[in-house]
Amino acid sequence: MPRVKKEAIKEVKKSKRKTKPIQTVKGMKDILPSEQFLWDYILDNGRKLCMEFGFGRIETPILEQTELFQRGVGTITDIVEKEMFSFETKGGDNVSLRPEGTAGVVRSYIENGMSKWSQPVKLYYEGQMFRYEKPQSGRYRQFHHFGFEILGDSCPAIDAQVIYLAWKIFQKSGIDDAVIQLNSIGCSECRSVYKKMLVDYYEMKINKLCHDCKRRLNENPLRLLDCKEEKCTQVSFSAPQIIDHLCQPCHDHFKNVLEFLDELEIPYVLNSNLVRGLDYYTRTVFEICQSDANGNQKSLGGGGRYDDLVKTMGGEETPAIGFSFGVERVVESLLKKEIKIDHRVKKDVFLVQLGDMARKKILKLFDKLIDSNIAVGESLGRGSIKSQLRMANKTSSKFALIIGQKEALDDTVIIRDMESGMQEVVTMNDIVDEIKKRLKNK
Ligand code: AMP
Repeated sequence: MPRVKKEAIKEVKKSKRKTKPIQTVKGMKDILPSEQFLWDYILDNGRKLCMEFGFGRIETPILEQTELFQRGVGTITDIVEKEMFSFETKGGDNVSLRPEGTAGVVRSYIENGMSKWSQPVKLYYEGQMFRYEKPQSGRYRQFHHFGFEILGDSCPAIDAQVIYLAWKIFQKSGIDDAVIQLNSIGCSECRSVYKKMLVDYYEMKINKLCHDCKRRLNENPLRLLDCKEEKCTQVSFSAPQIIDHLCQPCHDHFKNVLEFLDELEIPYVLNSNLVRGLDYYTRTVFEICQSDANGNQKSLGGGGRYDDLVKTMGGEETPAIGFSFGVERVVESLLKKEIKIDHRVKKDVFLVQLGDMARKKILKLFDKLIDSNIAVGESLGRGSIKSQLRMANKTSSKFALIIGQKEALDDTVIIRDMESGMQEVVTMNDIVDEIKKRLKNK
């Protein structure tokens, strides 16, 4: 066989071979339309409550200077040490995809001179975060946070308000089995004394610690308290508790926070091992957790005070506090609970057609109706009138507008009242006004 022919056959065979589909990057997932209503539901609840509490929305870039997270979150945290998506731009800048939202908000507070605004400044945000973690159930490499921050107020009532708002978003969304875990990790002064005590304690038990904890002992001893390794948990059980070693101002602050929470009748559990995985926290820290099927605590969201962060980032001394929750985890929890949310798309009218000529008329009518702010549905691909009327029912449409071959020729439309089944013929010219009139009377 001549070579040219052989190659042509090869090409044809190759084109018939099934191409291997491209998949999502490890740890990332699509959010399909069937889940979107839950996303809208939880985010709308968050947005509405934040606005009622006087927060304004902020959007910061997904990409920031790597140094922002090194300085803010801390270099000896898992997030910065192991989990950032960092790279050098073509211009030589070292940048990272944001692993959390607070550092960006603080940068923006300083960069946009928000310390001159009326204090406190209350901001909320939502968006994608990126952490190069081992993907597993409820843990992704791209996930979403909804969060809020109050900058410029150190009053313990503000701590209580942030915890209250976080709690209320969950309650309003039907997550009634979540538990608030609460602790105070003091200020830089009392914490440094406590850290020394902790190092002394763990050094005596060094052989019972996991590899990571041995390494972290001198760099970040607080992290040992929330290590999930069984042997470390056992050791941490008898570790000194920070709550017993707070300085007087931190002690009073925490006592006041608890009093405010009691006043608001918000249930909480004190957890002396709760320290949070980011360096910037001071005083109040909290998480909202839920038990999974095996009885393990899964964190839906977390937050706390970060009174030193604005200064660390180059701003003026500004006390602040914030909270964020993982939207994926909350959506997964709602899915498990099978919470009933009426998410059907409701329409005022549904367009029903039979034949190509009618389809053309329907396309034009669709345009006229949406221009008149009438919620309109159609199913151009469906052939039978019966199946189109079923769709009209499913979308709770009040009227079906039917155009068959006769109506297409006569330039008329049949109005069918979906409740009574009564039908009437109207001219195409009058149909929009007629529908408006009937919708008003419904
Ligand atoms: P953190 O700032 O680590 O406390 O995160 C706050 C919340 O974000 C957590 O309670 C989770 O709900 C969520 N979250 C954190 N990391 C991930 C992840 N890798 N995948 C999905 N959700 C996450």
